[in-house]
Amino acid sequence: MIGAGLIGLGIAYELARRGADVRVIDAREPGGAASWAGAGMLAPYTESIAGPYEAFCARSLALYPAFVEELRERGGIDARLRLDGILEVAYDRGEVARLRGRVEALAARGIAARYLDREATLRLEPALGGDILGAALCEAEGCVDNRRLGRALRAACAALDVPIDAHAGDVALEADARRVLGVRGPAGFVPATHVVNAAGAWAGALAGVPASSRVPIVPVKGQMLALAMPRAFVHRTLWAPGAYLVPRDDGRLLVGATVEDAGFDVRVTARGVRALLDAALRALPALGDLAVAETWAGLRPGSPDGLPFLGETATSGYFVAAGHYRNGILLTPATAVAIADAVEGKRDASLAAFSPQRVPAGEHAAHDLGAKEAV
Ligand SMILES: Cc1cc2nc3c(=O)[nH]c(=O)nc-3n(C[C@H](O)[C@H](O)[C@H](O)COP(=O)(O)OP(=O)(O)OC[C@H]3O[C@@H](n4cnc5c(N)ncnc54)[C@H](O)[C@@H]3O)c2cc1C
Repeated sequence: MIGAGLIGLGIAYELARRGADVRVIDAREPGGAASWAGAGMLAPYTESIAGPYEAFCARSLALYPAFVEELRERGGIDARLRLDGILEVAYDRGEVARLRGRVEALAARGIAARYLDREATLRLEPALGGDILGAALCEAEGCVDNRRLGRALRAACAALDVPIDAHAGDVALEADARRVLGVRGPAGFVPATHVVNAAGAWAGALAGVPASSRVPIVPVKGQMLALAMPRAFVHRTLWAPGAYLVPRDDGRLLVGATVEDAGFDVRVTARGVRALLDAALRALPALGDLAVAETWAGLRPGSPDGLPFLGETATSGYFVAAGHYRNGILLTPATAVAIADAVEGKRDASLAAFSPQRVPAGEHAAHDLGAKEAV
C-alpha cells in the first residue's frame, strides 16, 4: 500500500481482516495529509452529488456505524461518529425554494430530510443570525472526527500486525511491461504481487508508473480554521453560503473551507482566512468574540471529471484508489471494501464509472463549482 491516509489505511485494514499479508508505506506521517486536514462531514446529499457517485457515497455512509464500532473494538479508539444531521441554511427566497425542492426530492426517495421555517431553525440552533429564512435538515447525514479516525485505523491495523512504515520518503512503483513487481524507496526494494496507489493528491505523480496506467490527479487546496467555542454553542454541522461549520466534542468549531487551484502550496493565507471568517460571521454573528484556536490547509485529490479512480489499471497487479476530492473521508469504508474486493478478483459492475482505465472528460470539478459549493 503506497500512502497511509484514510484511504490507504482503510484498504490495508480491510485486506488484513480478510487475512491478506499487507504492508503500508508512507513518505511522511500516516494520516497526516488531507485525511488530517479535512472537516469530516459525511454529506452525500448536502454535497449535491448525483448518479452512481451519490449511490457509492450513500453506500459508504451506511457502512459507517459498523466500521467505526469495529475499529473501536479492535484498536480501542473511538472516531466519534455523529449522525445527527446537517443543517443547510437559507438567507433569500431563491435558496428557500431550492432547499424546499431538495428536501421534497430526498423525502420522496425515503431519505430522512425536512424543511424547517425560521422559528424551527432558530429553536435548533439559537446562535444562527437573525436574517435567516429557514433551513434544510438532512437527518441522514453527519460527521466523524477524521483525525481520530486516522488514529483509530492505525491502532486497528497495529492490532492486526499490519506494518506501517512512516516517514519512509517517496516510494516509486516497479513494474515491467505487463505487471507490477513491487515498490522501491529510500529503504530499498519491497517485492509485491499487488500494489495499491493510495497517495492522495500525489497519486498522479507516483514515479515508475507505466504511461498506460497513470491517472490525472490534481491537488485542490482547502484552507480551514478552528474557533474555541463555549459548550453547546453550535449543536450540529451547519452549511451556510460560503462556509460550513462543524462542531467537535473537544470544544472546537471547525470553519471550512476554501477551494483553490494552487498546486501543492499549503500556506494559510490572509485572503483565505478572511473569506472563511466573513462567511462564518454572517451565519453566526456571535462568533466574533471566539478565539481562533488553529488554522491549516490541505490538498484534496481532484480528478478531471470529479470522480475517484478505483480499481486495477492496465498494469496487472497495480491498483489505484485516489481522487476522492471532497468526499474521501465519507468514502473511506466503501473504498476499503471495493478495493479489497478488486484485489481478490471480484468485479462490481456498479463501480465501472470509477475505473482507472476510463478516459475522464472535462475540466476539473473545482472549476465547475457553483457559488454554494465554493466552500
Ligand atoms: C480542507 C479540506 C476539507 C475536507 N473536508 C472533507 C469532508 O468534510 N468530508 C470528506 O469526506 N472529505 C473531506 N475532504 C477530502 C478528504 O480529506 C480527502 O478526499 C481524503 O482525505 C483523501 O484521503 P487519501 O488517503 O486519498 O489522501 P491523503 O490523506 O492526502 O493521504 C495520502 C498519503 O500518501 C502519502 N504519499 C504521497 N505520495 C507518496 C509516495 N510517493 N510514497 C509514499 N507515500 C506517499 C502522503 O504522505 C499521504 O500521507 C476535505 C479535504 C480538505 C483538504
